[in-house]
Amino acid sequence: MIALHQVSDRDEIAAAAADLEGRDPRAAVRWALERFARGRVAIVTGLQSEGMAVVDMAMAIDPDVRVVTIDTGRLPEATYRYLDMVREHYGRGIEIAFPDQALVQAMVNEHGANAFYRSPERRLDCCHVRKVEPLERVLVTLDCWLTGLRRSQSRSRASTEVVAVDDEHGGVVKVNPLASWSAAEVVAYLEARGVPRHPLYAEGYRSIGCAPCTRPVQAGEDPRSGRWWWENGVDKECGIHGRPLLPVSRSA
Ligand code: SF4
Repeated sequence: MIALHQVSDRDEIAAAAADLEGRDPRAAVRWALERFARGRVAIVTGLQSEGMAVVDMAMAIDPDVRVVTIDTGRLPEATYRYLDMVREHYGRGIEIAFPDQALVQAMVNEHGANAFYRSPERRLDCCHVRKVEPLERVLVTLDCWLTGLRRSQSRSRASTEVVAVDDEHGGVVKVNPLASWSAAEVVAYLEARGVPRHPLYAEGYRSIGCAPCTRPVQAGEDPRSGRWWWENGVDKECGIHGRPLLPVSRSA
């Protein structure tokens, strides 16, 4: 395990980021799997195409690599079907992290089951309880996590580094192999590799999350506009990759 408070470690991460920038994403995946001990490095994915491309790249290097997803308790039925498709494709399952039952119970009993529609604050609280808190429990078991983030996904992801120290999560190393890829490159990769895609893409979804907070988008619309579509002026983020700023005038 590396101690990232040491300047030399940050120098190492910065050097890796510079070296891996612009290279094939598989180089970043290989660097992560070779640099960190098995079990202490994992792909954390919401099972969208980007994350699955990283999973596939990692599985090709280490079929036993740790892969984690979060079952928020509000996922679309199609996501559970897709989990079975992925299990069949790779001949192994994906580790599933769950929210803390007591936190969910307290939130739902106080605010209701669908309070996320009422305000950005309630929505972010739900995302925190159902996504961020379980993620944080996973991240404390890791030295490095890999994601499917791409710069062109949104304004808030435009400065995504291929490798970075994730100070929001205690200094764990975060590797984003697809940072410079386009959506088309991701789809082409999955098709070339024969990796099944989440069934909801065929129904017009371009970004897939929880069932009550995700809907299909029309051709030409921002791919992430189908997430939390009732909100205005709030980044289309759940807090896993940075807590979005709230509009100044909004209150709970
Ligand atoms: S996406 Fe919606 S249901 Fe899922 S955790 Fe966030 S607010 Fe809750």
